[in-house]
Amino acid sequence: TSAGHHQRCNSLFAALAVLPFCLGCRGSSAVFSLISCRRTDVLLVSPWLAPIVWEGTFNRDILNAQYRQKNFVVGVATFAVKKYVRFIEGFLGSANKFFLSGHRVNFYLFTDHPEKVPSINLAPEKRLFIIPVQNYSRWQDISMNRMDIISNHIHSHWRYEVDYLYSMDIDVQMFEHIGVEIIDTLVGTISSWQYTKPRDSNSYERHPESRAAIPHGEGDFYYAASFYGGSVSEVYKLTTACFKGVTEDRANGIEAKWHEESHLNKYLLYHKPTRLLSPEYYWDEELIRPRIIRVKRLSSVRKDLQEVRF
Ligand code: UDP
Ligand code: MN
Repeated sequence: TSAGHHQRCNSLFAALAVLPFCLGCRGSSAVFSLISCRRTDVLLVSPWLAPIVWEGTFNRDILNAQYRQKNFVVGVATFAVKKYVRFIEGFLGSANKFFLSGHRVNFYLFTDHPEKVPSINLAPEKRLFIIPVQNYSRWQDISMNRMDIISNHIHSHWRYEVDYLYSMDIDVQMFEHIGVEIIDTLVGTISSWQYTKPRDSNSYERHPESRAAIPHGEGDFYYAASFYGGSVSEVYKLTTACFKGVTEDRANGIEAKWHEESHLNKYLLYHKPTRLLSPEYYWDEELIRPRIIRVKRLSSVRKDLQEVRF
């Protein structure tokens, strides 16, 4: 009954009861869909009150309608250097379909082999920019230098071209929609490894010599370097700070345990993300997916590390 709806609405959304969308209580089914937009099996908000995005906690239609009014452009920075050109087609093909579908996205592909970029028919609101980049002999340097290249490119181009910027690995494929629920000022993706290992064995750099070091006993979430982003200005601060750490470590003959990911984790520990993406947004295919990961939106492509990196 309508009274019953009001009852549930009042208890679950007491603070929201005066807001217009609670008018849905009046007989429509809107309140039921609001009530079903919750999960009780996972953490939904970080201790600093940043939302953690999980399937079943948001309504994509509402988010799309809000976002459309703003006419934002999102940039995606991705790298395909040396043998990683083989991942371009799977990445772009699936991102064209599933990444911010219906919204404006500029893909920026940095590669040392522009001639090997396959031609892909992109949706009209999507654009591809191919940017030549040098290669490095060590795969660790290719991966770490992304921070420097992104930081420089924000300064020279992106701050005039896009509103939000996301950095993504190229060796991934998308299987479900990744929509405007990822948009926020500073966004990190919780590593899928965090859900399979005891909390204390996560992978922060602990050696105090490294600029990525996090003291024992400190730390909360462990974030994946394969997918992070936010507003252009926040991503500028992040990539600049992380690359500074990489450079100082290099000068001291040090390389952090998980390369730029270690520096990213240190940065995000002390500059808390305003939104966290659950491991639905980057699932590591080496792991068995637990029940709480209801959808695999994006996952790593299995690769022979020895073959592809050397
Ligand atoms: N990368 C590249 N060529 C290389 C090594 C790395 O283009 O030889 C880029 C590519 O975008 C890749 C990212 O750096 O997705 C991170 O490296 P990788 O995926 O090997 O790291 P993992 O995800 O295995 O930790
Ligand atoms: Mn990868």
